[in-house]
Amino acid sequence: MTEQRRHPRSRGLLVLMLGCVAAFATGIGPRPAGAVWDGVYDLVLYNVAYLPAVALCWLAADRVPRDRLAWRSLSAALLVSTVGNALRTYQAGSDATGTVSPVVDAIALVGYLLLYVTVVSMIRVRVPRFHPSMWLDGVIGALGAGAVGVAFLIGPYLDPAPGRQAVPLMQLGMPATDVLLIAMLFAVGSILGLRLDRTMGLLVPALALMTVGDLLLFSRTVRGTYVDGGPLELTWLASVALVAVAAYLARPAPPPVTEAGIRLSWRLIAVPLVCQLASLVVLMVGWGDQLPIGAAWLATGCTLAAIVRTFTTFGELRAFNEVREQARTDELTGLPNRRVLLEKADQVLAEATAARPAALLLLDLDGFKEVNDSLGHTAGDELLRQIGPRLQPALRPGEVLARLGGDEFAVLLPDISLDQAHDRAERLRALVLRPFPVEDIRLHVGVSIGVATAPVPATTVQELLRCADIAMYAAKGAGEGVHVYAPDPHGGSGDRLRTMEDLRTALDGDELLVHLQPQVSFTDGDVVGVEALVRWQHPVRGLLSPAELLPAAEQAGLLRPLTDKVLDLALTAAAGWWLQHPVPVSVNLSAANVNDVDLPAKVRTALERHGLPAEALTLELVEDTLMADPERGRQVLGELRRLGVRTSIDDYGTGYSSLAYLRHLPADELKLDRTLTRDVAGDDKAAAIVEYTALLAHRLGVRVVAEGIEDAETHTALARLGCDIAQGYAIARPMPVADFRAWLGRPSRPLADASRSTPG
Ligand code: C2E
Ligand code: MG
Ligand code: MG
Repeated sequence: MTEQRRHPRSRGLLVLMLGCVAAFATGIGPRPAGAVWDGVYDLVLYNVAYLPAVALCWLAADRVPRDRLAWRSLSAALLVSTVGNALRTYQAGSDATGTVSPVVDAIALVGYLLLYVTVVSMIRVRVPRFHPSMWLDGVIGALGAGAVGVAFLIGPYLDPAPGRQAVPLMQLGMPATDVLLIAMLFAVGSILGLRLDRTMGLLVPALALMTVGDLLLFSRTVRGTYVDGGPLELTWLASVALVAVAAYLARPAPPPVTEAGIRLSWRLIAVPLVCQLASLVVLMVGWGDQLPIGAAWLATGCTLAAIVRTFTTFGELRAFNEVREQARTDELTGLPNRRVLLEKADQVLAEATAARPAALLLLDLDGFKEVNDSLGHTAGDELLRQIGPRLQPALRPGEVLARLGGDEFAVLLPDISLDQAHDRAERLRALVLRPFPVEDIRLHVGVSIGVATAPVPATTVQELLRCADIAMYAAKGAGEGVHVYAPDPHGGSGDRLRTMEDLRTALDGDELLVHLQPQVSFTDGDVVGVEALVRWQHPVRGLLSPAELLPAAEQAGLLRPLTDKVLDLALTAAAGWWLQHPVPVSVNLSAANVNDVDLPAKVRTALERHGLPAEALTLELVEDTLMADPERGRQVLGELRRLGVRTSIDDYGTGYSSLAYLRHLPADELKLDRTLTRDVAGDDKAAAIVEYTALLAHRLGVRVVAEGIEDAETHTALARLGCDIAQGYAIARPMPVADFRAWLGRPSRPLADASRSTPG
């Protein structure tokens, strides 16, 4: 919708119109006598005053495209009225009896029809979607106003007081059209709920004024008291002046009235209410056949519509409450959702004191992903649905259990001490640890619970959530079940938020580095690879491990830039030795990289930038990441492989995936996790698993790396079981790049027994 500027002549037209009205008004009192002066006033000045309004409406239609039809029809209505008026005045003046021809009445009727078009199109534009109650309000407004109109405006002429002559039905056309117009205006008022914009705010009174003039004219004509050129004429001129001002001020219509924009207020019901009351008055007055039957029908119709309206309001209110309820409950579990929790927490915190604090427990299921992966999402959902019924009986009145999303739940405990909160958390945890019957299986899941209190240390709801979140991660990290948040004065490892902020800065600077851990062949001890493991040289907290920085990077959405950085560091290092020792470097990818469609392109340009061939790089993807979306995982591995980069499945054996997947995954290497490899020397079952896994991998053309070898015994066992490559403290710990280059240059590298030495 384009807003066009007002036409330069508009102001002139408005002034002309008001000038004509003022000039006409000078003739209302005593005016120069004679037919010529009557002609000047009643025929010329009166009708000429209409013409600028006709033009202004026409121009408004150009300026306001949305109301084009309304302004055009209004312009046409005014023009038709001008012609009708002029003819009426002329005929009445020339005919001694003062009668006018039916053609003039017909012209006036056309003018009214055009006005109806104006009103209907104005309301259509303003209310794009009518819902039932709006329709009904319109109907109530129209019927109520119609009832009053027929009863009190038309009725007296149909059935006049004794001694008066009844008006023939034919002549009632004019007041009938007016009553219809009034009914329409009341309908508009009912639908828009009195919230008229500027245009409607001027047009509605203008049209109302016009009907008042018409009805007075009618009653005077019937009684024979009408005189041309009297003060009554000013009603129409004032009405046309209002129309002209509305047209002059018209601008693109305000946003249409939508359901969302409708506020419950007296304005909304004022007009329908008045109309209902009016129709009751009509019915009461009509008691005893005093009023035309038409009025009684209209009033009855209005009352019936009001009854229907009451029912729809009831229905709408119920639907509204349902939507409100839906917005507040978690769809899967039926528990309150995050929004409710935040609201309640707000109220609870307002009353909490340091002596009687409030506590928030944040529960996150352990191993839920595995349930989803191995048993399917239906089973996962079924499990989540059982959490509420399991925990709810353990809650007291006023305590709130909510699901925050995924496998995360929260319990808000008002008025409780820290120790009590800790106890309650332990009790809830014990409840979750009991098996859940899911699809005929008794399923065990763990839960990590973070506990935090307010107003100390958390002062706001957001802080309370944050502290409980940190505590929950600490519980998960340490595998301790329940952890109570304690503020760390040294900004220690607990404060993930600060870590996230620092990490953003670190990514731009040179605080991130990689340590390198060699991979050697079991058969001849040759170095066949090296894994780059990220480290963060934090200015205050010292050297941080992946366990400390990866969760923060994940939460801050920094995993992709982190991988870019590590890739760059790893390739920079490899470029330093590649020509003397063609040892490829392995880089770990995370779940965020798997969804990165630019990854293959990024890898290719990184290799080119460092002048390295594709075989200088191996990319590792953790088994779980691949299994979360095997299709996507396969695609990514495939694309990387097409580049010539080697691909590796990391931490094999920690998840629930099956070897069958290996058939479909385009991987070159399988890295057996330490949980699989560490016991092979003493545990026959562990040894058998490794042996057959290696056998199968070889049959599929995949080589096997054994991770986490800490001693010579395990090393020997793994070699015997058929693993190809060894990685672990027994060969070497991860070390800075310079140290690795020195290590690489050494002629012999005996196995160290890391299990007996202290980690360095
Ligand atoms: P990973 O890829 O399985 O890396 C091997 C981890 O095992 C390394 O821990 C390494 O220091 C440790 N390790 C090596 N040999 C032994 C051993 O003999 N005994 C024991 N107990 N541990 C050993 P680190 O460096 O703490 O890395 C942990 C995990 O963090 C990595 O596991 C990897 O999944 C992730 N990670 C490391 N660097 C990156 C990175 O740049 N990007 C991403 N996305 N993840 C990384
Ligand atoms: Mg790895
Ligand atoms: Mg691993």
